[in-house]
Amino acid sequence: MPSYQFTCRRDCGSFERTFRMAEAPAVTTCPQCGAASRRCFGGALVHRSATVTRLLDATKRTADEPRVVGAPPARSTSSISRNPLHRKLPRY
Ligand SMILES: [Zn+2]
Repeated sequence: MPSYQFTCRRDCGSFERTFRMAEAPAVTTCPQCGAASRRCFGGALVHRSATVTRLLDATKRTADEPRVVGAPPARSTSSISRNPLHRKLPRY
């Protein structure tokens, strides 16, 4: 579920609350003082899952420091079929 940022009308600062996208109100109560707090514009902050975070970090890392390849990838002999019928298949 996305979380939305709200700002308290009194000076409690901003806080986040999670709502379903269809149910996100424009105004909610401040958890500290109970005053009306308006939703900040900027959309929902969708919480990143661990997988998404790991992928984003890996993507960022490869942009800065690409992995150095010291040797061609090892050939695996196990993927070659020994079936004689497979020799008739077109090769690309
Ligand atoms: Zn407040």
